[in-house]
Amino acid sequence: MDAFICTACGTQYTPSSVAPLECLICEEERQYVPPRGQTWTTLAALAAGHFNSYRQYEPGVIGIGTQPAFAIGQRALVVCTPNGNVLWDCIAMLDPATVTLINGLGGLKAIAISHPHFYTTMVEWSRVFGAPIHLHAADQRWIMRPDPSIQLWNGETQQLLPDVALIRCGGHFPGGTVLHWAKGAGGRGVLCSSDIATVTTDRKFLSFMRSYPNLIPLSAEQVIGIARALESVQFDTIYGHYFDRVIPTGGKQILESSVKRYVAAVGGAYNNE
Ligand SMILES: [Zn+2]
Repeated sequence: MDAFICTACGTQYTPSSVAPLECLICEEERQYVPPRGQTWTTLAALAAGHFNSYRQYEPGVIGIGTQPAFAIGQRALVVCTPNGNVLWDCIAMLDPATVTLINGLGGLKAIAISHPHFYTTMVEWSRVFGAPIHLHAADQRWIMRPDPSIQLWNGETQQLLPDVALIRCGGHFPGGTVLHWAKGAGGRGVLCSSDIATVTTDRKFLSFMRSYPNLIPLSAEQVIGIARALESVQFDTIYGHYFDRVIPTGGKQILESSVKRYVAAVGGAYNNE
């Protein structure tokens, strides 16, 4: 039996003798089935034509992404702290070089994922590194490979390590989560925002969507909710979900001005421009 992986979103399903009929993640409006139709791969087939690449952004923050790009194309982050390392978000591809590299850094204490589009092969990562997976309970229905290593958390925040916390922002998904590392960015604080708050192409703003491929916006109320969830959190650097989507400094003010601009835009501020 193989654990089939959807080639459009990277989600891995519980092992089965034949591939699933459809990908429930891609059939929903926040993702999409490509015009060519649904196709599947396995981790072994994926590893035959892909490898992972790495980028250190600052001491203690290393990005891991796949070459050539696979599925949604996000990169994960390894956040290295004196109390242990956290894998933030996940990617489908897991190869021996990645295992060697992460074990060289001291392994993983925990895996935490912002939302279901990045659950991918989380169970494989958990087994290799012996680390639990922390997911928000509000998105439980989107877990396509249930496993004892998955620990659902409820409420608004979850402390993973003394200086690393998960914060529920909602929006893109009800359980949409960001990671805060208080000691990152030289002590000014790091926010790993994934696409719960997306770093825009000009790297000067954040924006917010229910569906990125299908361009469905969030309401003003939802985006104000994201701002509220992060109100008391201090951070300077923001890491989005792609290798090159980073706001190196001024992140706290940028969140504030971005929420203001978004709420104004959906409220009609540009109706006559
Ligand atoms: Zn899919």
